[in-house]
Amino acid sequence: METTEQNIYSLKDLDSLVDSLVSKGYRVIAPKIQGSLALFTDVKSGSEISLDQVNPNNSIKEHLFPRSEPVLTFKYESKKVDVCDPPEPAQKTVIIGAKPCDTASLPILDKLFQSDITDKFWFAKRNLTTVISVACDKCDEYCFCSSVGLSPESKKGCDMMLVKKDGGGFVAEVETDKGESLASELTDAFSKAGAADNGASRNVCSVETKFDSGNVKNWLDNNFEDPLWEDFSKQCIGCGACTFLCPTCHCFDIVDEGNIDGGCRLKNWDACQMKMFTMHTSGHNPRSSQDQRWRQRIMHKFRYYVDKFDDILCVGCGRCSRSCPVDMNLSECLSLIDGKSGETKAAGEE
Ligand code: SF4
Ligand code: SF4
Repeated sequence: METTEQNIYSLKDLDSLVDSLVSKGYRVIAPKIQGSLALFTDVKSGSEISLDQVNPNNSIKEHLFPRSEPVLTFKYESKKVDVCDPPEPAQKTVIIGAKPCDTASLPILDKLFQSDITDKFWFAKRNLTTVISVACDKCDEYCFCSSVGLSPESKKGCDMMLVKKDGGGFVAEVETDKGESLASELTDAFSKAGAADNGASRNVCSVETKFDSGNVKNWLDNNFEDPLWEDFSKQCIGCGACTFLCPTCHCFDIVDEGNIDGGCRLKNWDACQMKMFTMHTSGHNPRSSQDQRWRQRIMHKFRYYVDKFDDILCVGCGRCSRSCPVDMNLSECLSLIDGKSGETKAAGEE
């Protein structure tokens, strides 16, 4: 759906939006300050929402793909096992305040969650969720959306994008039918945009391009073995924070928890940066060193996923680097690879 004058609205403030949503029975998720962190969590009023940070610490992923999610329950009864599906989510949900990088992760993950089999857990929540993003008015040195084909006002994956207006309020640009139906339903919050909205200056920052993702892919295609992997990953302690905070990392483990009466089968987040991720029961570990695990993370995001799904598995949100306890910086590694790609080309030309 193209954005036209017909689907641009004016939103006075977040209070009226959240009040309207709550009164109509929606669950609302938005960034909220909790201690020193800004986290996407349930809110009941617009005053709880904080849009001041570059990006919330967690991503919106965990509200569609929870850290731990039951996939079935089981009960033992007279030597038989009864297996039941967990209850399906039913409440319509609106996520407010996701940055364009986070919303872009959704269609990227849709491809994976319907590739070999359709992941009904992901799509049950996805179908019930409307995503209202906010264009970025500030960025930091960790952001690199523009190096992976996005921008601070990209609409990929959102249903509607808010742009902050000078003097308060937002212009709301509808992107999908879901977004349009929400704007039409919430007449207390949204009104048709007037001339002032259409001509309003856009409070949007710009993000410097740090590397060429095509060069990175070419280099990765040809350099599975390279001293760069060990050199760059020396300080990584394998804590997994980068993978858990990443909006596109999606690996999980399946675990049964229960007792003599029955229990639950859970899908739990897992992380390729942790040593146990690939540990075999024999004790052999095909990725026994941290440089192999770091290489896997880069290869998966910038080579294998591109080959399989024609999308980079990274949206340049910078969370992995911003939160790394030992200052591993992904865009620095990718810039280094881009530079090496240039060296290879130059050497080849001679
Ligand atoms: S957050 Fe940093 S130290 Fe932890 S696994 Fe990721 S790169 Fe390594
Ligand atoms: S790899 Fe890092 S920058 Fe890329 S999407 Fe994940 S957390 Fe964001």
